[in-house]
Amino acid sequence: MLGSGPVAIIFASMGMFDLYEPYPVIGCPYCGTQLAEWQGKDGPCALFFWRQGMVAPLRHQVDEECRLPTSKMEQFRLPMKFRFYSRDIKCRFCPVYAVGQTKDQMWVSTTFFLLSDAPYHEMVDLNEDRSLSPHLWRRQ
Ligand SMILES: [Zn+2]
Repeated sequence: MLGSGPVAIIFASMGMFDLYEPYPVIGCPYCGTQLAEWQGKDGPCALFFWRQGMVAPLRHQVDEECRLPTSKMEQFRLPMKFRFYSRDIKCRFCPVYAVGQTKDQMWVSTTFFLLSDAPYHEMVDLNEDRSLSPHLWRRQ
């Protein structure tokens, strides 16, 4: 990568993905696994690490020589809606994917999608009224 310049580096990393962290981190309602690692392709796909509650990426998850300067990285934004997938699936009912939503460019909420045959669970089925929670649950 030496001598290729920052533009070439960005171009080379396109077609990859970004890393997402719904925050606060939650556990699967059925097996309790902490669902901390997620990946998606709806953002800039430059191996940025995005955390719910923030406007810009928290960090650039690449080797130091390929890392964008913070001032450049902080110019990136997420789209209004973006889907991402869990890398922590441990049981049959762990959420398959989630959809994040931004408001005024900030990632403000996340909806977790479960299989349609996931059994009744309070955390999932009674959360429609919890408008203060940053996390929502739905069945596919
Ligand atoms: Zn699970």
